[in-house]
Amino acid sequence: MRFADRIAGLPPYLFAELDRRIAEKRAEGVDVISLGVGDPDLPTPAHIVEALQKAAEDPVNHQYPSYYGSPGLRGAIADHYRERFGVPLDPETQIQPLIGSKEGLAHLPIAFVDPGDEALVPDPGYPVYATATQLAGGTPVAFPLFAETGFLPDFAELPVTPRTKLLWLNYPGNPTAAVADRSLFEKAVAFAREHDLLLVHDAAYIEMTFDDFRAPSLLEVPGAMDVAVEVGSISKTHNMTGWRVGWAVGNPEAIKALATVKTNIDSGIFGAVQDAAVAALQGPQDHVEDLRMIYARRRDLVVDTLNDLGWELEPPKGSFYIWFPTRGRSSVDFAEHLLQSAGVVVAPGSGYGANGEGYARISLTVTDDRLEEAMSRLREALA
Ligand code: PMP
Repeated sequence: MRFADRIAGLPPYLFAELDRRIAEKRAEGVDVISLGVGDPDLPTPAHIVEALQKAAEDPVNHQYPSYYGSPGLRGAIADHYRERFGVPLDPETQIQPLIGSKEGLAHLPIAFVDPGDEALVPDPGYPVYATATQLAGGTPVAFPLFAETGFLPDFAELPVTPRTKLLWLNYPGNPTAAVADRSLFEKAVAFAREHDLLLVHDAAYIEMTFDDFRAPSLLEVPGAMDVAVEVGSISKTHNMTGWRVGWAVGNPEAIKALATVKTNIDSGIFGAVQDAAVAALQGPQDHVEDLRMIYARRRDLVVDTLNDLGWELEPPKGSFYIWFPTRGRSSVDFAEHLLQSAGVVVAPGSGYGANGEGYARISLTVTDDRLEEAMSRLREALA
């Protein structure tokens, strides 16, 4: 077997590794509680499932879908952006449906990065930004995010070079749970303009916010449309990670370039799933507020538990993660200690970049019962 160089340097996907460790432990008979992967435990709302059932019977949906997404879905995304953010989008040129936002994030560098080009990736950050850049033959250049500055970038310090083509941002952030306001996005747009970069904002958690905070869209910023693409998803907002629907919206040339890559690789989203996504965007939204309340309650449980054990955490305002220092232990030692002594899985921060070392991430996507059980085990293991 002679593999391509481009996969030689690629680490195994963090959660594929974690899954293996969990399976080993379960085989030993341990009742493992995984707070590792972020995958909503609650079911998709019934009206969305019913929309799929109905649409699955329509023979129109049994043939290849449109490469560019159905007019219905593109229209629903445009309506959503206008109503939620006050941002008008042309469904023809400024919207590209995706097979989950991960698909678009992974394909964007193919359209923008040549071998030798660089992309600025947040560290810690969602690993796909760096690996997708590598798969396209480019070089990911990490920029550090620090707790002291709210895990927001310092644009004056970004390691930009003439070869830099892309800048990735993600707020509310995975794994940091940090949120950004419009002023951060204004700086990002100015920076992208100055250095002629494509700015990609990953907004997968944009609706997962707490207390009184509502996350802005990057596209609310004047001029963003000239330099940016925002990637969104129904996965977290509607408990639909298994359905694989997301979108890229923004600069028409960038959308067109992404569509060119995609039309050569995939053939779109199952039409019935697109109809269900329309139902998610246009149907009742009560479940979204319910979800925010549920995650906020779980967040408080985890933050209070850790603070009782000596941490000094502020409750995060977004995402469904708790990102916290491992206090003297390495990330992997800390995660291994919790697995061995409590049967609780947390994600080691080092999986999110060198700057994630010394941190761990807890996901709030398990039932209240299991989270309570996990916290009581943590109280013993970390006392
Ligand atoms: N972006 C971030 C920051 C994520 O954490 C995830 C999933 N964990 C995704 C994108 C991908 O989500 P999806 O493909 O389900 O839309």
